[in-house]
Amino acid sequence: MNVASQIDAFRREWGARLIILGHHYQTSEVLAHADVIGDSLELSRKAAAAREAERIVFCGVHFMAESAALLAAPQQQVYMPDVQAGCPMAEMADLPRVSAAWDVLNRIDPGNWIPVVYVNSQADLKAFCGNRGGITCTSSNARKVLQWVLDQNRRIFFLPDEHLGTNTLHDMGFPDEAVVVYDPRQSGGAVPEAALRNCRMVAWKGFCRVHTLFTSEQVREVRRLHPAARVIVHPESPKEVARLADAHGSTAQIIDYVRAAPEGSIIVIGTERHLVERLAEEYRGRKTILTLWPSGCANMARTNPTKLFDLLSTWPERNRIAVSSDVAPDARLALDRMMRL
Ligand code: SF4
Repeated sequence: MNVASQIDAFRREWGARLIILGHHYQTSEVLAHADVIGDSLELSRKAAAAREAERIVFCGVHFMAESAALLAAPQQQVYMPDVQAGCPMAEMADLPRVSAAWDVLNRIDPGNWIPVVYVNSQADLKAFCGNRGGITCTSSNARKVLQWVLDQNRRIFFLPDEHLGTNTLHDMGFPDEAVVVYDPRQSGGAVPEAALRNCRMVAWKGFCRVHTLFTSEQVREVRRLHPAARVIVHPESPKEVARLADAHGSTAQIIDYVRAAPEGSIIVIGTERHLVERLAEEYRGRKTILTLWPSGCANMARTNPTKLFDLLSTWPERNRIAVSSDVAPDARLALDRMMRL
């Protein structure tokens, strides 16, 4: 029996007691074994709702499995086929430097900040925010979450992705000067105090290596080669790219955009290449789907069917993901605030 057949046999044996989640950026060979395919939070919610599932296997990166563990019932255990699959962007915001920045902001304007943390973050950062009245957001609901902060007449401390924060506030009609970017590698974030006093958002200088590879030159070149094409990019892309594109949106919004486009459309997509390649295959002969640039996530690619099979056949404790009880309640608080919106 080959690996795929052996995985199928495990899935049949376990039935509803096992649920395998696959993020959109996984390869098709991995997703062939997924019970549910989606973006990170959607997958965690579905796993938590499948209460008969005793074991949840997350084919994605570490912060996603942590979110699944935070939302899981006590009897559900969460595993990853490769626990080394991290997210470099999530790791760019470490607690000591975030705490130092928080102190700077509150010295300048005490009590007037709300931390907003993208779900692409580690559980301890979610907890830091939850504990300080903060909230998580996704790339789909970032606008609604930022509005929730602004409606309270407070200012936003956005972590860890500069681009999602900046692009979203711009979409809401704010000028570029409303955002200052805090560079944790520089003393005081390399931001003058006056700028911190006057802005609406301080955005942490974190980024996704996959989406920051997209450039405005690529968009211009695509328009030259395919004048009829429409370009859509993920909001983790730099602001020049997001503004030059016809649209920007989360993974789910990109998929909806392609679905809604008329037959014969040419759509160029700036996001992780495995999703774009799958959409190209799905719409072959009806719509032309091209990648803006073949940018892939090396961490997502760490998971493969062989590692999935190894996990299912041995269930090693080292592949189990749990969130420490010191951190979990506050991290859940940040997630709960978002889910109540
Ligand atoms: S695509 Fe970017 S944000 Fe997503 S896991 Fe990879 S590095 Fe992290």
